[in-house]
Amino acid sequence: MSASKSTVTPMMAQFLEIKSEYPDALLFYRMGDFYEMFFDDAVHAAEALDIALTKRGKHNGDDIPMCGVPHHAAEGYFLTLIRKGFRVAVCEQLESPEEAKKRGYKSVVKRGVVRLVTPGTLTEDSLLNARHHNYLCACTEVRGEFALAWTDVSTGDFLVQSCPRIALGPLLARLAPKEVLITDALGQELHEIIEDAGAAITELSPASFDSTAGTDRLQKQFGVKSLDGFGQFARAELGALGAIVDYLAITQKGKLPLLRPPIKESANTAMQIDAATRRNLEITHNLSGGRDSTLLRTIDRTVTGGGARLLERRLTAPSTNITTINARLDAVGFFTQATTAKDIARDALKQTPDMDRALSRISLDRAGPRDLSAIQKGLEQGAQLANALCADELPQNLIDACNDLQGHDELFNALGAALVLEPPLLARDGGFVADGYNGELDEARKLRDEGRKVISAHQAEYSTLTGINALKIKHNNVLGYFIETPATHASKMLSDKFSDKFIHRQTTANAVRFTTVELSELETKILNAGGRALEIEKQIFTQLCSSILEQSDTVSVAAKALAEIDLSSALADLANGDDWVRPKLLNDRTFNIVSGRHPVVESALRRDGNHAFVANDCDLSADGTDAKPAWLLTGPNMAGKSTFLRQNALIALLAQMGSFVPAASAEIGVVTQLFSRVGASDDLARGRSTFMVEMVETAAILNQANDGALVILDEIGRGTATYDGLSIAWATLEHLHDVNKCRTLFATHYHELTGLTSQLSGLMNATVSVREWEGDIIFLHEVKRGAADRSYGVQVAKLAGLPAAVIERARSVLEKLEDGAASGGGKTQSLLDELPLFNATPTPAQPAAKESEIENAIRDILPDELTPKDALALIYELRGKL
Ligand code: ADP
Repeated sequence: MSASKSTVTPMMAQFLEIKSEYPDALLFYRMGDFYEMFFDDAVHAAEALDIALTKRGKHNGDDIPMCGVPHHAAEGYFLTLIRKGFRVAVCEQLESPEEAKKRGYKSVVKRGVVRLVTPGTLTEDSLLNARHHNYLCACTEVRGEFALAWTDVSTGDFLVQSCPRIALGPLLARLAPKEVLITDALGQELHEIIEDAGAAITELSPASFDSTAGTDRLQKQFGVKSLDGFGQFARAELGALGAIVDYLAITQKGKLPLLRPPIKESANTAMQIDAATRRNLEITHNLSGGRDSTLLRTIDRTVTGGGARLLERRLTAPSTNITTINARLDAVGFFTQATTAKDIARDALKQTPDMDRALSRISLDRAGPRDLSAIQKGLEQGAQLANALCADELPQNLIDACNDLQGHDELFNALGAALVLEPPLLARDGGFVADGYNGELDEARKLRDEGRKVISAHQAEYSTLTGINALKIKHNNVLGYFIETPATHASKMLSDKFSDKFIHRQTTANAVRFTTVELSELETKILNAGGRALEIEKQIFTQLCSSILEQSDTVSVAAKALAEIDLSSALADLANGDDWVRPKLLNDRTFNIVSGRHPVVESALRRDGNHAFVANDCDLSADGTDAKPAWLLTGPNMAGKSTFLRQNALIALLAQMGSFVPAASAEIGVVTQLFSRVGASDDLARGRSTFMVEMVETAAILNQANDGALVILDEIGRGTATYDGLSIAWATLEHLHDVNKCRTLFATHYHELTGLTSQLSGLMNATVSVREWEGDIIFLHEVKRGAADRSYGVQVAKLAGLPAAVIERARSVLEKLEDGAASGGGKTQSLLDELPLFNATPTPAQPAAKESEIENAIRDILPDELTPKDALALIYELRGKL
């Protein structure tokens, strides 16, 4: 796109100059009511947006590709482009064409980029999901120490955490950011971790991450001379926080969003959960990447965006601090008891708007009147809710929330007085300030709306004054408003008596025209009234915005208080409705769940009207009971092993995020790390072999799990040949038991492992029981001590609808194999020799198996008619047929 400027039009020269500053973004170049794109930008955008690609003029002899979108619909296009991995530079006209002409600058309107739209910096409601956070992260390293800072521009949350490199993946998986800022020095490996977390990568220059510059930027942003008041930050932390501030200044063109003061999060305040565990447990996303049937979706009963986001934050980072957890549980517990208060709160909250996001738009100058109204309604309803709740004896978290909701009367009253009840979306057209709020505005509106009425009042007044009935006030484009009298009456008007009043403007053949000071003032007022009304409204808008921003800290604290009440009452609603109990958190390695259930499977069974969920106990308490900290779980496929494993992990997670749990009782020694792995399924998308993925993930556990960990392993080793798999499962289990010493649930189909209990003192066998019935299998879903006698694979295959002939064949192969194993032989070759060849020609409509003579005989028995003696005789007879 390099061009010798002489051959290009002034407009194209301007475009090229601006574009050269934003080579990585699509430049949306404002022309009147459209944003136009040119050259390669146009080609890419037209394809991504599925819009027509046209041409406009020539450049160096070639056509210039062009496409455009109407400016009022631009938001939707931004979103599509962002989702497809583009960034957009929004270039606006910075002056009107008239102003440009005045400057005589060949009439090209001044333009400049006012904003860079990137995945991590969205604030528009239409581009964001109200129930989820939209995080922007920055990651840096100073002498081996990593730090990750993150913010949600739409709510102002701003946090940072130092962590070892190994913990970056889990942290990114928790935040699921949309965009991560790094320098290229951080290397390819980090790219992979970030891409795994589903985020876009934006590389900035190392200067953006400089810790000294970062400190300056932060001090400036928060108007402080030292950051000490916010805590002590490491250099890497300052670098990462500073990079975020720098990037926001670049993308928002100096209009910095309302960031809260940075909070330093320590790495061990939250349960560590890595990406694979999150995926396997389907916490916020299911295995196919959607949100259905996830834990979050199943338990979310919040009624506000803020509440939903708080739930997501807590669920993705369960606490490890018992005091924090108990304070949250107290709040939930209060609402489970005080059901009236709960209903009042939930009804009130349904009406409250999203103050956090409104506040962020106000700070970025992107707000409309509805954002002001959101703050007004939010604060007013918050205060009412706090008053209603205060009547009860509240736990501390709710007392704090109620306090935070009080004391905003002045602000919401001021907003209430200023705004109409249902303000329009945009400030541009006015109409949002209430009548009676501002005298000048009322007058302007009156003049605008009732201009003609006022004029006719003047006409009547002048006519009485002069006694000329024929006097009229008229309007034309040359004179504007003027008083006209027939020529015959003109002398009266021109007399000395009125010389101060009526000023002569024009004499025509039949009429004489005058004006008055009043009338010209009135005229100016009328002509400008519309514009003036708008102007005054805009001033009021700006004033109201500033008065909100002056109190942004307390407003945002109030928004958080509403979210807290929403979440506590939502979790209470869930607990009451689904019969959940308050867990007891301990500072040891207890893990004793009585009658635990899997919340997602249970709710699916309930919804589909299927059988009821079978509750199961799980006691992994390591200290002082007869329970064992490691369980080896065997049982056929489909029996419920995975469900059991996961339900215990989910119960720990729910408990530590501060929720009641689906069980009859739960005692949990704080879990500091949660690991969940499932024997591999193909991960072709990432180009790694199945078994490799399985081993990489298992290695992470064996290297990291400590005695605070809860580990669930489901069919580890199944991704390779039997003996390899068995040996790896074996060694893994031993390592977890002897070295990691963590609470472990290990499901396997390798029955050979059950023998390990004799060697590993902390290992216990458990099985999910099934019953066999006429060659079929019935799943009881009950977990009990002991090992499964066999795997019932053939029966499960039959359930799955494998052809009868295949099932029969499998049965006989299995029998031979088992005989072989029992006699210590079992060589496959001798088996092959022994077994008759598989008869693959099925007979039509063949019954599952030929009925035997004995079965026929039994079918003929009429038990009610048999005497005990006959019955005994029959048994001898049947026995004889064998
Ligand atoms: P496995 O891991 O042993 O193959 P799953 O845990 O996948 O078995 O369970 C298979 C199905 O059995 C589940 O989808 C669920 O419908 C049902 N199920 C599992 N556990 C229970 C239970 N405790 N109560 C009722 N149904 C269950």
